[in-house]
Amino acid sequence: MSNLDKFAAAINCIDGRVQAPVAEWLKLHAQVQYVDMITEPGVDKVLTAGGIRQTASIAEKLKISIDAHGTSTVAVVGHFDCAANPVSFEEHKTQIEECVNTIRSWADNLRVIGLYVNEWSAVDVIYDSDSEFEEMNSYL
Ligand SMILES: [Zn+2]
Repeated sequence: MSNLDKFAAAINCIDGRVQAPVAEWLKLHAQVQYVDMITEPGVDKVLTAGGIRQTASIAEKLKISIDAHGTSTVAVVGHFDCAANPVSFEEHKTQIEECVNTIRSWADNLRVIGLYVNEWSAVDVIYDSDSEFEEMNSYL
């Protein structure tokens, strides 16, 4: 299947510094042409400490991307120097892992990736449900 008409989604911060690195990373690693952006300030905090309404709103937006664009990969993103969530890398990492679990509970057959955009605007993989599957396979 061609990647020319394929979409992924990113649940990302509103921060203008992190949109392009995340979109480029997903285009390369999820082999898609387009990335639907769902943004909230400090979204890794919103999904872990925010209210049910905010979480439901994000889930609804992702559902539109899945239903309309056939999105099968979604990344949830935390980043360095986040104005809305100024915590340490370790705290971001814990939040991102929790976000991944939350998002995985929303839909089956969804590849969920946790990403962190670091101080050099490079993208670190915190979690990838695809590589977990590979690890599981290696035990079989
Ligand atoms: Zn931010």
